Amino acid sequence: MQIAIDGPAGAGKSSAAKEVARRLGFKYLDTGAMYRAITVMALAQKVNSQDEEELANLVKSCELEIQDDAEKGNLILLNGKDITEEIRSPQVNQTVSIVAASPGVRKGLVHLQRKVAANSGNIVMEGRDIGSNVLINADFKFYLSANLEERARRRWLEMQEKGIEITFDTILTEIATRDRLDQEREDSPLCIAKDAYVIDTTNYTLAEVVDMILMTVTSAKKVPGS
Ligand code: C5P
Repeated sequence: MQIAIDGPAGAGKSSAAKEVARRLGFKYLDTGAMYRAITVMALAQKVNSQDEEELANLVKSCELEIQDDAEKGNLILLNGKDITEEIRSPQVNQTVSIVAASPGVRKGLVHLQRKVAANSGNIVMEGRDIGSNVLINADFKFYLSANLEERARRRWLEMQEKGIEITFDTILTEIATRDRLDQEREDSPLCIAKDAYVIDTTNYTLAEVVDMILMTVTSAKKVPGS
């Protein structure tokens, strides 16, 4: 079974997807982490984030490994180095949506994501274009959203917990910019797949969102309204 979970930054996708996968005993893949890994590499090698050819070459030349971790969800190894923490830096947040708009980057990573799905059996995959592009035939598709202030508040709390000094306004602006770039890019933009269940998580706890997803999956209604 394939479960696709999409939505904008801070909508609660990662936490919900991880927990749904854990409860069902499925594999979990955070595709945003893959775009972040390529961004880490582009920043380290000072590749211009708009240079289409160089970015595509980066994806072809790197060795990206994603391991399941009971606590962290996915461990991200780039050319053998664990960059799981590094991919969450403010600098990566600012650049990732520009890198992710590159068709060459998307082509390489989507190929990898489909390969992981094909080799995994049951999987929960989360991102921006999973239900609308990567796993177009997924058994269940969810689109999680929440209002911008609430999403920024969640991200700000996460940063506080990690001890990263950043203002709420900086995060709000960064998320709004990322939303715009992700929705407006030409290649597989963030959108609601036509057969997705839409959940506005603004007023729900993580546990409630997870229950909603699990109830839908276990009641085996695949298409909303059917
Ligand atoms: O999910 P996360 O916020 O970590 O994703 C980081 C960025 O990666 C997104 O803002 C988006 O630009 C890109 N992304 C994407 N397609 C996906 C997953 C993430 O373009 N399937």
